[in-house]
Amino acid sequence: MRVENEMEKKRILVIEDEKPIAEILKYGLEKEGFQVVCAFAGGSGLEAAKSFRPDMVVLDWMLPDIAGVDVCRMLTEQHNIPILMLTARGSVEDKLYGLEAGADDYVTKPFDLREVAARVRTVLRRFEKARSGETTRPEEYGEGLTVSEQERLVCRNGREVELTPKEYELLLYFLKHPRQVFTRDALLERLWGYDYMGDTRTVDIHVQRLRRKAELEDKLVTVFGVGYKYVP
Ligand code: CA
Repeated sequence: MRVENEMEKKRILVIEDEKPIAEILKYGLEKEGFQVVCAFAGGSGLEAAKSFRPDMVVLDWMLPDIAGVDVCRMLTEQHNIPILMLTARGSVEDKLYGLEAGADDYVTKPFDLREVAARVRTVLRRFEKARSGETTRPEEYGEGLTVSEQERLVCRNGREVELTPKEYELLLYFLKHPRQVFTRDALLERLWGYDYMGDTRTVDIHVQRLRRKAELEDKLVTVFGVGYKYVP
């Protein structure tokens, strides 16, 4: 029996409606030193995620009540936990769809228990590494402007700047690409997406608000006839 080094056993929630498969997963993962709880539907899985507070979820893609992709989305929105999905063999769309919805990795059925356990360990390790890396000091951008990406917190001269999510994304994008000139179309595509129905005036409005709120009048510069750039 393999026991993890941590003081406490890592908790795994298995969401799988086929009970024999859920039982096999529980047996296999417990043997590997994990604490396992099973839920046999999407709804009860989401409930269990709240009460059991798992470190990770193994999620079957075909559930009777809620589609796996939606469970996945809700789990990643409500809890900051990694997800390993179980998909039918050869269903490429499912895998891509799942990874887009926030799943961290997948295993195809029928699976080898040792493979599932190995994937669980890898994903957990990767996730914990990323999480510990998050606790960094706020990044300083020029004089008096700091951004803590972990907290999505922007400060200007020690004062918190309240930004909408889009204003925040736009600011971060400028800060990460200093002196680079962006057209309004490029910014619209990059931050609002290709299928956004608005026009490039949206960009102008957001830049104006950013300048005012974060006191960046002389830093977020208009490049006449082209677009905008950030000058640190
Ligand atoms: Ca199923």
